[in-house]
Amino acid sequence: MALLTQHLDTVPPAGLIMPTAKPSFDRFGRRIDYLRLSLTDRCNLRCVYCMPATGMRFAPKDELLSDEEFLRLIRLTTELGFRKFRLTGGEPTVRPGLPALIAAIKALPGVEEVAMTTNALLLPTLAPALAAAGLDRVNISIDTLDPDRFRRITRGGDIAKVFAGIRAAEEYGLAPIKLNAVVVRGFNDHEVAALAGLTIAHDWQVRFIEIMPLDGVFDVARARLVPSAESRALIAARWGPLTPEAHHHPADPARPYRLPGARGTVGFISSVTENFCAGCNRLRLTSEGQLRLCLLRADELDLRALLRGGATDGELRAAVRAGVWRKPWGHGLKDGLLPVGRGMSQIGG
Ligand code: SAM
Repeated sequence: MALLTQHLDTVPPAGLIMPTAKPSFDRFGRRIDYLRLSLTDRCNLRCVYCMPATGMRFAPKDELLSDEEFLRLIRLTTELGFRKFRLTGGEPTVRPGLPALIAAIKALPGVEEVAMTTNALLLPTLAPALAAAGLDRVNISIDTLDPDRFRRITRGGDIAKVFAGIRAAEEYGLAPIKLNAVVVRGFNDHEVAALAGLTIAHDWQVRFIEIMPLDGVFDVARARLVPSAESRALIAARWGPLTPEAHHHPADPARPYRLPGARGTVGFISSVTENFCAGCNRLRLTSEGQLRLCLLRADELDLRALLRGGATDGELRAAVRAGVWRKPWGHGLKDGLLPVGRGMSQIGG
């Protein structure tokens, strides 16, 4: 905490920075203002579509960015017009000192929103501290409502703990809550309608994600993809027509729909069959300090080498700007280009 406080002391007051912060646009005219940070490559689950059962190599601590390094890079991106930050992983809640890191991010001028994607297992104990630190909201991953299937998909997880985590998130106001379900043929595709049915009684958004071919799961992703059109049809067959919501942020990959009479909404993240690259507004920073320009392309920029090589703030800002400019239009899955080299838990989903 002492180091974080020291870091904050070096940040000029808001008025000195923000008027000069210009938004960053890529060469296609997309405004890039959203950074997703993988805080760790470690996870307390082993989902079948995300990590291998064994043999996963985790980065030693000194290869991960420190809190101070994350904070410096976040501060510099705010000076380039980034406003929204999402903490993910691996599992972000297993990173030691998470509440202090969140408080320090929230204290940076220009940071408008800090959200987190989590499996929720640790939220019953952590939610009060995360909320007090200023975390705005959480997305929670839950692919099934069946305890045995949950144990199989996550290789050992206890679904009761996820529901306890969802309750804790609600109790401490980490809302609106979004639930993420990766639809995997033969595992949970027959549960899509039941998961969507959660939105009838709860003011949640349940989002169905197409399985993506990240390194380590190419075969599973190819064999078990369920297109979003199929998920929508399954839901409509059970609950009636899906009405698109009037208000939809163009950069939100999940267009929201409402089931008849539902309190919440459902959404579909169709990266493979109906890509939303035209509205992409994000970059990713891996736990090892690589600026990842597109989730589904291997193109990265090594910010850790610059940080640890003594780069000035100006040099780091120039590198991020160059990354924004170099951001590819979209993924190359249709052309058979697969993102070799790093799995989802290392990049940050
Ligand atoms: N551990 C946290 C969690 O479970 O939400 C955050 C990291 S996890 C990698 C982030 C999201 O990526 C989760 O919703 C997960 O289901 C999703 N995910 C992982 N592998 C995926 C894949 N191959 N295709 C699509 N989504 C994937």
